[in-house]
Amino acid sequence: MNLPETQTIFKQILDEIINDDIKRKNLDKLTEIKKSIACKSAIKAGKHLDNQEIDILIKNWAKTKQPYTCPHGRPIIYKLSKDDIDKHFRRNMVITNFYNKW
Ligand SMILES: [Zn+2]
Repeated sequence: MNLPETQTIFKQILDEIINDDIKRKNLDKLTEIKKSIACKSAIKAGKHLDNQEIDILIKNWAKTKQPYTCPHGRPIIYKLSKDDIDKHFRRNMVITNFYNKW
């Protein structure tokens, strides 16, 4: 292989590397745009939904690959344990007081 051939091949390899990097950056940008569209078009807190809309929303949400966060990674669900609910409504205290009286 002579020097001009080597230079041509080297240039082709560099072009491929640069083009791959541009493609990857464009795909990254496209992914970010898709994430923004998904989050900006999402149903926001406080919006009233009827039962049918809630049903459709939950069914679609259950099919998602990433059900616990938005595409940016922000949590979209919060799980309350029964203990948390009992504490909030002071169920343990009521039961204790009830049994202490008898
Ligand atoms: Zn988001």
